[in-house]
Amino acid sequence: MAQETQHAWTIAEANTLYGIREWGNGYFGIDDSGEVYVTLNRDVPTSTISLLKIAKGLQERGLKLPVLLRFSDILDDRIKYINESFLKSMKEAGYRGTYRGVYPIKVNQQQQVIEEIAHYGKQYHHGLETGSKAELIAALAYMDDPKAFVICNGYKDEEYVDLALRGLSLGIQTVLVVEMPGETELILDRARALNIKPIIGLRMKPSTIAGGHWTESGGDRSVFGLNTTQVMQAVDVLKREGMLDCLKLLHYHLGSQIPNIHAIRIGAIEAARFYAGLVAEGAPMGLLDIGGGLAIDYDGSQTNSSSSRNYSMKEYCDDIVEVVLGICNETNIEHPTLISESGRALVAYYSVLLLNILDTNAFSTELNLDDITPEMRPALENLLYVKRTLNPKNTQECLNDLNYYREEIRTKFLYGSVNMRERAMAEHIYWSIMADIFKISREQDYIPPELRDLEYHLSDIYYGNFSVFQSLPDVWAIDQLFPIMPIHHLEEQPSRHAILADITCDCDGKIDKFIGRPEINRTLPLHALPDDEDYILGVFLVGAYQETLGDLHNLLGDTNVVSVTYDEQGTVVLHHELDGDTVADVLSYVEYDPKHLESLVRMKAEAAVREGRITTHQRRKIITAYTAGLRGYTYYETDQED
Ligand SMILES: *Cc1c(COP(=O)(O)O)cnc(C)c1O
Repeated sequence: MAQETQHAWTIAEANTLYGIREWGNGYFGIDDSGEVYVTLNRDVPTSTISLLKIAKGLQERGLKLPVLLRFSDILDDRIKYINESFLKSMKEAGYRGTYRGVYPIKVNQQQQVIEEIAHYGKQYHHGLETGSKAELIAALAYMDDPKAFVICNGYKDEEYVDLALRGLSLGIQTVLVVEMPGETELILDRARALNIKPIIGLRMKPSTIAGGHWTESGGDRSVFGLNTTQVMQAVDVLKREGMLDCLKLLHYHLGSQIPNIHAIRIGAIEAARFYAGLVAEGAPMGLLDIGGGLAIDYDGSQTNSSSSRNYSMKEYCDDIVEVVLGICNETNIEHPTLISESGRALVAYYSVLLLNILDTNAFSTELNLDDITPEMRPALENLLYVKRTLNPKNTQECLNDLNYYREEIRTKFLYGSVNMRERAMAEHIYWSIMADIFKISREQDYIPPELRDLEYHLSDIYYGNFSVFQSLPDVWAIDQLFPIMPIHHLEEQPSRHAILADITCDCDGKIDKFIGRPEINRTLPLHALPDDEDYILGVFLVGAYQETLGDLHNLLGDTNVVSVTYDEQGTVVLHHELDGDTVADVLSYVEYDPKHLESLVRMKAEAAVREGRITTHQRRKIITAYTAGLRGYTYYETDQED
């Protein structure tokens, strides 16, 4: 739907409209020419680059959209930020322990991420958290810092336990965290068998319920962790076996994206009490692991809505440090090393998905009365009367009449007394009046509830070259909101309101909830498509949880992936990391053999030649098209030739 009057539009208004200053966190913004930029290092001015320039650079190299951009400098900045924030809070509070972060591999398992964290994080002794054998196997290869921890969570079989124990012999501080009652004995058995002294942790079930999307991990109903009775039983087993001196760590995890600082405080208080209790039982302890949950402000609102958080990094660190310090001093015990397992807060800013718009379905509400022929008039008379008489005083009445008359025409159509052209024109008149009503009600202070969704119903559909299921699975699965906006033309006022559809042809393959204030917006303000170039949107903050949850809905595969860094001269460097899946790739994931497919088509073409339906020349064309299709990108391929 078109917006009304244009006026002199400013970049400041674009900033406000898309909220980029709020969610961009200093990494993303709009430059003077109306393009979105990324700042790779917030301390280095020359590390700022326009995303459009990156997109153009890629297109020059023949790399097609959609493409996922990764910024390892931003990842480094996040690691630095969380470590220095904790250390600062500790220093200010007079805390006598230290901080050791561990990154939970499941949040983004890409090799690049793990390598970067192990490498850059080494100066802070940042470690890794594993939830499975496979993750531990990756962690053991990349960690080589005797001061960093590898926290082993998740259900454990003998092999997982053995690998963790062998990690200790390699000089890596692997901590085996008991998640369920039987694991204590398993760990002790294997430790004896291998003659390696384990470092043991206990995962408690906090009774704090944290709110937000992902909080099933907290509370008594959580499937992970030990309840109070089970914690005591584990302690008793360790005592009985003379192994209590291996108990060093207490772990809890309230859930991910905890929007409210209050829940974080309460959780920390409960955990600190358990920690003190374990020290009182005679365990050496020394490590308190507060899990993940540190939230990202996806909508920039700084509230306790599920897409946001009502606290800063500083408050998060200050509160945890203060709670633990207070309870330790009160109970006269040493201040533990604090470990946190922040994943989302480390990697969310790391990736941006760029996608091009392929087409739009504009909702036209312009009515040209000349299109109504005299034969149609009798059927449409009532609707046209509503159109003529609508004014600000009778909108509600008109709305009621309008719905009544449309229903009447639909019924008559079923009985054959209204024909298809008449019905089509009736629907068109209906929407043109709805648009009139919407305009009138917007000019008034009060919009009746029935009309609040009108903007949504009158919006355009913009078809984006992407798959929600592959690239943004949480949009589909849990209605997560990500910031989405055009990466260029921001010096112009957007004139359309649209929802985004992907190319999966699935009715769930769409995005119709966008960040907005005070509430969620059902449509996104966008520009009319430019004639001479791609219109490109960015989906931001997609570094956490999206990449490996994605699936092959409609056989749309992985997108192209490019890493963006800068060198000492401040020149941008694009590393083409990964080609997106080809059609042959995705077909083979679901057990097709591309060679076999090709031979089946060859045989069909042969038969057609034999039966004289096509020429040999046509046969060659068909086969070339088929094999080129197999080799091609699964997404819509625009512009350049191969
Ligand atoms: C998923 C998970 C995390 C990561 O949580 P974030 O909210 O992404 O920081 C940390 N610890 C455990 C045990 C987890 O399951």
